[in-house]
Amino acid sequence: MRILLLEDERDIREPLAALLRHQGHEVDEAGSLAEAREAVIEAEPDLAVLDVMLPEGEDAGFRFAKELREAGYSGPILFVTARDAVEDRVAGLDLGGDDYLTKPFSLKEFAARVRALLRRQSRVHSSVFERGPLKVDYAARRVFWDGREVSLSAREFALLELFTLYPDRVYDAEELLDRLFPGTDSGLRIVRVYVHRLRQKLGPEVIATVPGGYRLGLA
Ligand code: CA
Repeated sequence: MRILLLEDERDIREPLAALLRHQGHEVDEAGSLAEAREAVIEAEPDLAVLDVMLPEGEDAGFRFAKELREAGYSGPILFVTARDAVEDRVAGLDLGGDDYLTKPFSLKEFAARVRALLRRQSRVHSSVFERGPLKVDYAARRVFWDGREVSLSAREFALLELFTLYPDRVYDAEELLDRLFPGTDSGLRIVRVYVHRLRQKLGPEVIATVPGGYRLGLA
């Protein structure tokens, strides 16, 4: 797999790059937004690992994620950052990030996150899920409600994907928190916020609240 590694601190970037190469990946190292942009023009990565604070600004990594998504990049984005506020995390994920690793982290933890994201990426769904007014095109990451396309953030899509892949399963809030915000302690409030957003953007019935948690609400 091809991985873009945007991190301005060499002491952090080099061991991460070495680890990824050791695992057989092709790594494009970038120490600035400018270098990252060049790398992406040369070849689209399968995974983007983005530091947030860069020479171009303290949220330059977030801005670059937005740029990537706007340019049509649909692969996973892993943010690595020293910032740890819940608001920051939500901001990063709303901008199209898939996961968030707070510095300092171990190489082992980094490797595990990368593996999980690449596994998800390679499990490309060619199928489409349809039930009631809902249609999810997994490969294109597009969602329709009553025939109308609805734009979801990466995290909202991930949540909906979970419910539709196992439509009869009940997920408790803790499990959703673990799956959507692995390794963080954002609090269950975030799960409620995202369930609420899906209900607002689609229909209130899309996710049912049931004893023990939530499940897909469409019969
Ligand atoms: Ca940095």
